[in-house]
Amino acid sequence: MSLTMKILIGMLAGIVVGAALNTVDVAFLNDYVVGGFFAMIGKMFVNALKMLVVPLVFFSLICGVAGIGDIRVLGRVGTKSFGLYIMTTAIAIGTAILLALIIAPGQGFDMQGIDASGITAKEAPSVWDVFAGIVPTNPVQAFASGEMLQIIFYTIVLGVAVVMLGERSVSFVQACEYMNEVMMKIVSIVMAFAPYGVFCLIAKTFAEQGIELFVPVMAYVVTLVGALFLHLFMTLMILLKVLSGLNPFTFMKKMRSAQIFAFSTASSNATIPVTLQCVSERIGVKNSVASFTVPFGATINMDGTAIMQGVATVFLANVYGIELGLVGYLTVIAMAVLASIGTAGVPGVGLVMLTMVLNQVGLPIEGIALILGVDRLMDMIRTAVNITGDAVVSTIVARMEGEFDQAVFDNPNAGIESE
Ligand code: ASP
Repeated sequence: MSLTMKILIGMLAGIVVGAALNTVDVAFLNDYVVGGFFAMIGKMFVNALKMLVVPLVFFSLICGVAGIGDIRVLGRVGTKSFGLYIMTTAIAIGTAILLALIIAPGQGFDMQGIDASGITAKEAPSVWDVFAGIVPTNPVQAFASGEMLQIIFYTIVLGVAVVMLGERSVSFVQACEYMNEVMMKIVSIVMAFAPYGVFCLIAKTFAEQGIELFVPVMAYVVTLVGALFLHLFMTLMILLKVLSGLNPFTFMKKMRSAQIFAFSTASSNATIPVTLQCVSERIGVKNSVASFTVPFGATINMDGTAIMQGVATVFLANVYGIELGLVGYLTVIAMAVLASIGTAGVPGVGLVMLTMVLNQVGLPIEGIALILGVDRLMDMIRTAVNITGDAVVSTIVARMEGEFDQAVFDNPNAGIESE
């Protein structure tokens, strides 16, 4: 049985066991099994993934820059991926708002009995600050705290300097290539535990998430999931087909393990090692492009999160009976796109972004209390959409730049043995 299959089984078993545990209220199970054992294994697994992110991004990006070797090509890859990331996020939220306006969730909603204490708005950082913050003052600190954009910036500058030193850099580049392989090997080791890690993460979440939380906001959940699926299966796949000519079904199949990881961890950042592996070893994007576009996308590209902002805004506007109008919705689109650039792909960050968006268009942020209960599950789904968006853009850019290995894409077993 392939590892992907085992992970899938782990996920399904987690849903079943979690849902079953949710129906029984036994203190021992709640405290020791769900809150104790499952939480511990799940946390260990996510920690192991996170442990890989920074060194993996560093070494693979050095190799990527050295592999491209030409600063103009590097600039092109950067500009194209940035443009595509912004474009896909804007399309995502645009469709989400349209769909939500048509379905109109939240009309006639009764706000009574909703406890909204403790929700505070976060100030949106200015665009200038976001861009200025890309340059780290202290690279060691940037690496230590996992500041992805700063790490990418510093590593690219380092890589360019390495390329400029030419002959003298050969052994350093070789060492980085070796370290990159070592890191990928550790990814495989961690992945071997994935079925159990995924099982525990999912079982814990489903055991803690009561179905009763979903009932009052069903219209919101249905609209949001509809918009997420529309983007995942239609928009992204059409873009992939039109701009790269590749078969969307094969693509989706090869992305499955990364999607399951994103779903279980609700973190694009923690999923970087798996996304990188799927995109380069299963789909065929050369490391020169993937090493940059994947971590970059995990930080700035959040299609699923943007979709949530769109649907949530329309939902809350309906609940409060506030008319936002065209300008209001355009503001929501602009805010959500900008907010996604400056925020990292970690669990729950979408809600923080939502406080900024609501503040900007004058909707009461207490409304977030309504959707708080269902947000974990929504976060899991939107994170899977987020990382698929990263992979689609990486693939398109790689095809445009001729940094794509068609043989890998055509081989159904490519990258399987290393999983
Ligand atoms: N969890 C999401 C991610 O990591 C962000 C969010 O929507 O909260 O991509």
